[in-house]
Amino acid sequence: MRSRPSVSHQPIEIMRPALLNPLFAPLTTLAGIGPKMAPHYQRLVGDKVVNLLWHLPASVIDRRFTPPIAEAPSGRVATLTVQIDAHLPSSSAKRPYRVRCRDDSGFLHLIFFHGREDWLRRQLPEGEWRVISGVVERFNDEVQMTHPDHIVPVAEKDQVMTIEPVYPLTAGLTAKMVAKTVRTALERLPDLPEWQDPAWLERQHWPAFLPALTNLHHPDSDQAIITDIPARRRLAYDELLANQLALMMVRAHMRKLKGRAIAAAVTLRAQILAALPFSLTAAQIRALAEIDADMAQPLRMLRLLQGDVGSGKTVVALLAMLSAVEAGAQAALMAPTEILARQHLETIAPLVKAAGLRVALLTGRDKGKAREAILADLAHGHIDLIIGTHALFQQDVTYADLAFAVIDEQHRFGVHQRLELASKGQAVDMLVMTATPIPRTLLLTSYGDMDVSRLDEKPPGRQPVSTRVLPLARMDDVIDGIGRAITGGARVYWVCPLVEESETLDLAAVEERHRHLSQVFGDGVGIVHGKMKGPDKDKVMADFASGALSVLVATTVIEVGVNVPEATIMVIEHAERFGLAQLHQLRGRVGRGTGASSCVLLYGGPLSETAKARLEIMRATEDGFIIAEEDLRLRGGGEILGTRQSGLPEFHLADLSIHGDLLAAARDDANLILARDPELSSHRGASLRVLLYLFERDGAVHTLRSG
Ligand code: ADP
Ligand code: MG
Repeated sequence: MRSRPSVSHQPIEIMRPALLNPLFAPLTTLAGIGPKMAPHYQRLVGDKVVNLLWHLPASVIDRRFTPPIAEAPSGRVATLTVQIDAHLPSSSAKRPYRVRCRDDSGFLHLIFFHGREDWLRRQLPEGEWRVISGVVERFNDEVQMTHPDHIVPVAEKDQVMTIEPVYPLTAGLTAKMVAKTVRTALERLPDLPEWQDPAWLERQHWPAFLPALTNLHHPDSDQAIITDIPARRRLAYDELLANQLALMMVRAHMRKLKGRAIAAAVTLRAQILAALPFSLTAAQIRALAEIDADMAQPLRMLRLLQGDVGSGKTVVALLAMLSAVEAGAQAALMAPTEILARQHLETIAPLVKAAGLRVALLTGRDKGKAREAILADLAHGHIDLIIGTHALFQQDVTYADLAFAVIDEQHRFGVHQRLELASKGQAVDMLVMTATPIPRTLLLTSYGDMDVSRLDEKPPGRQPVSTRVLPLARMDDVIDGIGRAITGGARVYWVCPLVEESETLDLAAVEERHRHLSQVFGDGVGIVHGKMKGPDKDKVMADFASGALSVLVATTVIEVGVNVPEATIMVIEHAERFGLAQLHQLRGRVGRGTGASSCVLLYGGPLSETAKARLEIMRATEDGFIIAEEDLRLRGGGEILGTRQSGLPEFHLADLSIHGDLLAAARDDANLILARDPELSSHRGASLRVLLYLFERDGAVHTLRSG
């Protein structure tokens, strides 16, 4: 028997249309980027040529102003044509090197600090004419220019007299280098087919792709950096269309996958519901009905359960898992941290054990014999319901029959982790949950491949949390207040911010605050952070939950899910450094019990207007969806959750706070395109494939029959 090469093992490059290859070559294939420069560019944009194309100027410098020296105004950028009169090397190390220049109208001095004479004499030979460009300064009657941006022979004047794009930089790269490499990258652009509908382009007065991109990198006016010009909107639309098409293709693909029809649990649910000390909210009932309907279909379920902190997602997940178990299969619940997994176990175990179900916990901490025993039980079907962390999909973990998987705090996991867990069973139905309120617009860009259920109602009896915003200078007052509260039995979270660049600094800040508060309050102050070992963390959390500790100093490890209903005060230091969604999550740790709760947001000043507005939103509302929408409005989508790990896509050209209107259009467009040409096999379909590859949505193309 002859073995055939498997398509899936071919590198992706082979699938990508060859005309795009120059753009997906490593940056080092560009002139001027050697192994020394490559890491800098990598940090700035990425490692492929195409990454440079998306690196748009942040501003421009207009160098078209060419006055005579005598008329050059102070403080303005000018391009001057001057004759070199004399070099005036510095007499001491402290004084700059000066070069006197002239034109018919007067004199000007070029100023160089630490100037190297041999280099300067080569650039500016006495008696010759040069074109210089930079900021003109006037002191009394002296005209000067410090470190001109450009010095070129007169013949090259036109190259300087332009509107120069100014690119965002990173250490190790100069403006000139980046501008130059972007230009070289642009030259790599092949002639690409038009993928947009010509009638739509005409109606919008949008240019074609190549002129649009060229226009942004070679601005013809200082308008070119404005995000709302036609060229920019065109490119934003390209990116959004690629995003929407890709999501819909993946979704269509999912729809075709076989699933198993699982009926809603009856007996088990009745038992569990009877054991619950509360009845479900209307929102919970609705979400569960939506899940039941999905599971009953012989299709693969992929549903997002969205609900604010404390909205009661866990119970919904549990009731859904029961359906898989009652059907004789297994269900898994995966959480991003050990603390969370353990907490889920503590909530769920007593309920399901009473109903005779076998439940187990599997985390990275289980090793050796104990782990082997769990794995054996799982493989033999002696466990109905498994709760755990990443450990749940490790290679040696096998399930007798996994039919349903829940992923809690899904933004903490990558798509591939979701898929790995799914691959542990046959046609696994998937419920992903998030407490991150995602604005509707962003929902479309990132979860367009999922069905969505929303828990928009909190269980009854929740206490509102009153929020105050105070400068760090008021810390002593806050500490006094906390002192009084803990004398009355209160429990307090004190959160220190994460310094992303430095875990050591991070740790130092938490430890320092812990020391400080321990001096004030004595033994009742605990500390928990990401660097601690699992058992130590658990011990501290347990002590806080039991009341042995009354103050818990923490990093954002407590952000997700931690549930201590007796805690009523949340203090967040340097609140201005957190994303609003994160602040919202943290605040959700209090107001879970019967006591009146409060939150203090301490900020390091002075605050920008935007930062002030953001904290004001936190003070004004507790509605996560409003907070998320406002955050999007104030900061733009890219920053909404602060970090990359948010799971939201990062757009290079589209800015949803400005181009949000284009998203709905792109969605309609994508719908229409796929309705007419689901396999993208038409002439335009071929061009759209190019678009998808250009924006690196390769995975979506591979869902097509001839992808
Ligand atoms: P989250 O959505 O943040 O994961 P949880 O599922 O942890 O919320 O629920 C928060 C708390 O609310 C838990 O203590 C849970 O037992 C309780 N709870 C859930 N549903 C209800 C309900 N319908 N009525 C009262 N309490 C509920
Ligand atoms: Mg939860």
